[in-house]
Amino acid sequence: MENFIVSARKYRPATFASVVGQHHITSTLRNAISRGQLAHAYLFCGPRGVGKTTCARIFAKAINCLSPSEGAETCGQCESCRSFDEGRSFNIHELDAASNNSVEDIRNLTDQVRIPPQVGRYSVYIIDEVHMLSAAAFNAFLKTLEEPPAHAIFILATTEKHKIIPTILSRCQIFDFNRIRVSDGVEYMRYIADTEGIVSDDESLNLIARKADGGMRDALSMFDKAVSFCGNELRYKEVATSLNILDYDTYFDAVDVILAGDYGAALMLFDRVLAQGFSGQTFMAGLGSHLRDLLVAKNPGTAGLLDVTGPLMARYTGQSAHCGVDLLFGGIALLTDLDARIRVATNQRLMVELALMKLCHLAAPEKKKSDIITLAPEVALPPLRKESAAAPATPAPEPQSVPAPQPEPQPVPAPAPAPQPAPMPEPAPAPAPTPEPKPTPTISGISGRPLSEIMGDTPTDTPDEEEQRPSTPTDPDAQDKIERHREKFLELLARERPRIGVAFETMETTDNALTVRVASQTLHDEILRFRTETLQLLATVAGVHGPIELEVVIDNTVKPARPIRLEDKVKHLTDLNPEFTTLRKTLEMEIE
Ligand SMILES: [Zn+2]
Repeated sequence: MENFIVSARKYRPATFASVVGQHHITSTLRNAISRGQLAHAYLFCGPRGVGKTTCARIFAKAINCLSPSEGAETCGQCESCRSFDEGRSFNIHELDAASNNSVEDIRNLTDQVRIPPQVGRYSVYIIDEVHMLSAAAFNAFLKTLEEPPAHAIFILATTEKHKIIPTILSRCQIFDFNRIRVSDGVEYMRYIADTEGIVSDDESLNLIARKADGGMRDALSMFDKAVSFCGNELRYKEVATSLNILDYDTYFDAVDVILAGDYGAALMLFDRVLAQGFSGQTFMAGLGSHLRDLLVAKNPGTAGLLDVTGPLMARYTGQSAHCGVDLLFGGIALLTDLDARIRVATNQRLMVELALMKLCHLAAPEKKKSDIITLAPEVALPPLRKESAAAPATPAPEPQSVPAPQPEPQPVPAPAPAPQPAPMPEPAPAPAPTPEPKPTPTISGISGRPLSEIMGDTPTDTPDEEEQRPSTPTDPDAQDKIERHREKFLELLARERPRIGVAFETMETTDNALTVRVASQTLHDEILRFRTETLQLLATVAGVHGPIELEVVIDNTVKPARPIRLEDKVKHLTDLNPEFTTLRKTLEMEIE
């Protein structure tokens, strides 16, 4: 291993045939050479490290070779080829425009262009990163490009084609280089590993190729780094460590616990990720990509977009079979949205944890949902039919500390015997029933209000679905829980949706229903648009298991409450509950 040379240099392709992943370009160039149809200027565009300069050098060598083989490959034997190989050819001139971008640099170059080559037929001028030339340098260069001498050929290379001015573009033959496919990168690294006597597994090479994101040079330098870390045997756990990447297993495991609806395990997994030194942002972005990969693996038509090889492919298709499309779509949308906001978040950890809990909820099997967080406001509606109204139930897991001032927001149990076995215990009698029942007790929690208003903007539910859905028991302590977590909820809400957050400072709680008063129709509509999300947040923060209802009232006399200062909120919370300080430390919340 002591003689290990940096792979990117040692294995730089020397022939068109050995260029990886750019077949469409090498074959066009070879055809042009064979037919003798050379242009005076070429523009090679594409991401960094995919072979633009390499192709330019092979091209320069090939057009000067004195006895080219069939298919316009160089012979490697003639004087010209040897001078290229030994780096003493006068037929090739390279200028790095990133560091030589002045008019003076271009004048030096164009002065040389006039001199015909002593050996060989063509002088090739390679200008790398050509978009870095100053405007004046571009103009100075344009004259030469318009009337080049017959022996001069220019190859301009750039990673940013859009920065090249049209007058230059129109004078060049343009070649767009591809990003290197993972499978091509893996294959080439396997070739190098075999040649160098390095044992490697498929996952390692996939990990490197994917991390390189389409750049072969990057892939090879990571490969070298992994070899110097792991020695002669690449094992992918170690490779992941050496490259500071989260390995595939982390994401497969994360999706497994999400599928199980086990948010506790998800939080612990995330804790281990943080302990390894990865940021919440990295983890969320990786998890988003993983869900995307599962989504494309689900459909044979799109499985080709899954850029992995070998046994990994089977793992993706295997896990994707267990994931519902709803979870994958919802998860990707959630994580993409999060990615945009997490950069500016003050508490990234909490954001990621919330996202994981939401994902667990998305994935949880229907019957387990109420164990996690029952939040979907649409299930707040009781069954409208008598027969399904026979099984309304309120589990009474803990004694009610505060007697409800109103009758329990349950539909009155129908006298008829239930046709199906009641899944829940018998309803607990309301502790303090008021003498006057509400006029429309069949609508839970909120009486006498039109159905459409309670449903807000949840248009996706057809009445049929509504009837089949079992009623979800309300949380008898909802009001108490909400009040206790009011400040925390308002703070988080204000961070995600500031306008809505301010509006919610006016919220009043009755049993499991909220009333928010706003001054404008616009705000009313905005709140309804985000009602599901908002109620989910509330249910999660306050630990309410059961439906929460929301009424938004337009009231012109309402003035939006001023958001109070953060330190005041913290003081208030600490006064309410001294445990808040412990919670804050546990969650590593920063108070600035
Ligand atoms: Zn030759």
